Amino acid sequence: MNTRTKLIHSGKDRDPYTGASSIPIYQTSTFAQPDPEHPGPYDYARSGNPTREALEHTLALLEGGTHGFAFSSGMAATSSVLLLFKPGDHLVVGQDIYGGTYRVLTGLFKQWKLDVTFADSTNPESIRKAITPATRALFVETPTNPLLHITDLRSMVKIAREHTLLAITDNTFMTPYLQRPLELGFDIVVHSATKFLGGHSDLIAGVAVTREETVGHHLRAIQNAFGAILGPQDSWLVQRGIKTLGVRMDAQQKTAATLATWLSGHPAVGAVHYPGLKTHPGRAIHESQASGSGAVISFELQGKPEVLKLLKQTQLTLPAVSLGGVESILSYPAMMSHAAMPRPERLARGITDGLVRLSVGLEAADDLIADLDSALTVTRE
Ligand SMILES: *Cc1c(COP(=O)(O)O)cnc(C)c1O
Repeated sequence: MNTRTKLIHSGKDRDPYTGASSIPIYQTSTFAQPDPEHPGPYDYARSGNPTREALEHTLALLEGGTHGFAFSSGMAATSSVLLLFKPGDHLVVGQDIYGGTYRVLTGLFKQWKLDVTFADSTNPESIRKAITPATRALFVETPTNPLLHITDLRSMVKIAREHTLLAITDNTFMTPYLQRPLELGFDIVVHSATKFLGGHSDLIAGVAVTREETVGHHLRAIQNAFGAILGPQDSWLVQRGIKTLGVRMDAQQKTAATLATWLSGHPAVGAVHYPGLKTHPGRAIHESQASGSGAVISFELQGKPEVLKLLKQTQLTLPAVSLGGVESILSYPAMMSHAAMPRPERLARGITDGLVRLSVGLEAADDLIADLDSALTVTRE
């Protein structure tokens, strides 16, 4: 089945009791067990809830995995996945990883004695060199946040297989509509469903999907024990969001491509980073592993004063953290998503004081261009 169809018909798309066209919000904590010797499918809602289960089923189907899991946030999903490892284990992590993932690895999981080496995932040799006898997994993103660098997923799988490592990726920017890493051999995909999957900037949620049964069973035990589950109301909202993921993504990435080209020619703008641009160094690899360029762009202004003016001047785009909503969102990584990263570290990774990230929404391209043009003109005054 085409992914567009799977977004609508996920197998658990009708309520078995009433025929309702969506699985209802089972707002309950517990389920009656009149005969404990023959328990039903549900007992306590941390362990299982029909609304969350319908979403988890959809996620597994879309990513092409065995088990899907819905968590209370993207960070809860990532942190629960990291609990698969033990103190003393070592991970090789892409250096352009999401800021919150960097923080949890260098803070909380450092206390837990999980060792991490950050390496340049755009260069497979650099990942390979970081592997030690204690390494248990690779954790990478592509395209990365906020510079849209491309990681070759097939090379990562090859390295992981050679060293018997779990290959983990955060697929938030692409979604399973555009990129399905498990089909290329990755073991675990995580998402912030807060972004494109939910799609409306109205909830916080996270996702993990596993390729193999055994890893899935281990993660199920962690989800149940650690308990960072997604509630039924938000599970329903994510499921609802997913139904329009295809049409949203198609429209948003079309506008993103138009804006990336337009920004490249703007006198106030330096480099533009977008995998769909001909000038993007990772374009060929990206096209070999994903079916679209996505809806996130980043670009350089001269420096912090220009960025601050742009954020104040724009009328249409929401100056905020986050991405993947129906509204365009303009973020300032240096002071928002990557504020937790020390400045020298941030600069070393190319996240300059003039870098802006734009998540393109569903507004008309012409209106976005007019708004950004007048705001960018003010930055040059
Ligand atoms: C937002 C984000 C996260 C964290 O997700 P939350 O839902 O905010 O906890 C993780 N990875 C990426 C790439 C993100 O954009």
